[in-house]
Amino acid sequence: MDTEYDVVIIGAGPAGYVAAIRCAQLGLSTACVDDWRDAAGQPAPGGTCLNAGCIPSKALLESSELYARLQHDANAHGLRIESMSLDIDVMMARKDRIVHQLGSGIAALFRSNGVAWVHGRGHLLPNRNVEVSAQDGTRQVLVGRHVILATGSTPVELAAAPLDDERIVDSQGALQWNSAPERLGVIGAGVIGLELGSVWRRLGSAVTLLEAQEEFLAMADRQIAGAALKLFRAQELDIRNGARVLSTQTDADALHVYYQDASGDHELVVDRLIVAVGRRPCSDGLASAEAGLLLDEGGTVHVDEYCETNLPGVFAIGDLVRGPMLAHKGSEEGIMVAERIAGQHSSMNYEAIPSVIYTQPEIAWVGRTEENLRQAGIEYRSGTFPFAASGRARALQQSDGMVRVLGDARTDRVLGVHVLGAQASELIAQAVLAMEFGASSEDIARTVFAHPTLSEAVHEAALDVSGRAIHLSASRRS
Ligand code: FAD
Ligand code: NAD
Repeated sequence: MDTEYDVVIIGAGPAGYVAAIRCAQLGLSTACVDDWRDAAGQPAPGGTCLNAGCIPSKALLESSELYARLQHDANAHGLRIESMSLDIDVMMARKDRIVHQLGSGIAALFRSNGVAWVHGRGHLLPNRNVEVSAQDGTRQVLVGRHVILATGSTPVELAAAPLDDERIVDSQGALQWNSAPERLGVIGAGVIGLELGSVWRRLGSAVTLLEAQEEFLAMADRQIAGAALKLFRAQELDIRNGARVLSTQTDADALHVYYQDASGDHELVVDRLIVAVGRRPCSDGLASAEAGLLLDEGGTVHVDEYCETNLPGVFAIGDLVRGPMLAHKGSEEGIMVAERIAGQHSSMNYEAIPSVIYTQPEIAWVGRTEENLRQAGIEYRSGTFPFAASGRARALQQSDGMVRVLGDARTDRVLGVHVLGAQASELIAQAVLAMEFGASSEDIARTVFAHPTLSEAVHEAALDVSGRAIHLSASRRS
């Protein structure tokens, strides 16, 4: 194997593998070092996202949602389902198959683009040398004219609830159970807590989420977070805010979670517990002390706006660096860095990165929130349109939620769009495009949307910014 490359990348998650493919497309000789192995011990590209994150969670969200809809909605459609049973082994096998197929796809893309996929653990040495330790203990050193660090993140652990890989697990463990616990506790009502809590609730568990913050989904639009909280509670997700977990105790037949909130001390008894309190960057031991890689507080690798570290020719992308821990953010950083290495002047718009929570209904947003704008002293106008007034949402029997558009009061430029509703993950893309092109709410209002679609709610919310939504009664218009 060659040992000298134009680019050596450590990490084959959505940040690293996308960077590798783009580098190869640009004619750069590229090696991508990754240490992930699947349950059978085989090297598996795709990182957290493919193997233990985005994809397996969405596969289970889809299966469990189908099960819930058949149980709760079929009757309304005139469908009488006399008996239905749940086979979680089949559900898990489907999820594993999807992960395996997509992993094979990445391996094929590496082959067809000529990316050298190196299995092992990478360690950055001075002068862009990368030492790779293979599973069998052998070591080799790859030399990169450039190095991209893309080692991702790992779950934050809680001393009050140490993982035992069986009953107290992190998100990866909770994607693998072959039965639904009768009583499930989740520490953290963030993105993972809500998504995995939803999966197991739909599959039959009584789910309680203990969230340290008083405010539910503090990063989201307040009106949308409030509406979502009501809907999730109606789905019997028992969300307890302001709950600080003090300790856990494991008995033969139960787990005791002791926590404190404003009203005092409490005990929650569950069968299993998911700890989902955030993730931290994988920077421990990534570089030798002699390499001199600068880290920021919290262990993120220090980078500038173009993802260049303090070391010349060494870049860092994805969950390893500042910004939201999202697959698409890492992938776009990978593309930007590959193109800059190839001499192009690519940059990234951090103002227009969409966020999605894949609950039912989904929550998605891009840009600023009202609170954000108020704090920044920016005057804005808002338009809101409820899916209850959308014909398509009614036909889908999914009319909960709303779209909110925030426009600059002076220029009308779209500053943020927030969606709670069916397919919010898809709807938000049009808002991202609008913001990328610097659209005003008037631009969206003047655009023709197909009827009947959920997208019409985006149109109507944009119309409502100037108080002229058509399908809102005069008293409800902004
Ligand atoms: P990772 O995907 O973590 O990949 C890093 C890779 O580097 C891994 O393969 C790791 O084994 C390898 N590695 C680490 N250290 C070394 C080393 N020293 N040598 C060699 N290899 C190394 N994001 C979304 O945008 N949408 C979602 O729907 C979504 N759902 C998620 C659901 C769950 C349950 C979780 C946990 C996360 C989810 N995320 C989602 C977040 C997303 O997974 C991450 O933002 C994304 O994977 C980060 O990509 P990355 O390439 O930076 O790192
Ligand atoms: P998160 O930051 O979304 O949520 C963690 C929650 O745990 C927060 O609400 C926090 O207040 C709470 N918390 C922290 N410490 C606590 C404690 N001691 N007790 C109780 N609550 C506590 O993090 P996550 O849900 O673990 O997800 C990790 C990362 O993965 C996120 O950055 C997210 O962006 C990414 N992710 C994205 C998606 C998606 O895009 N759909 C899905 C899953 C994960």
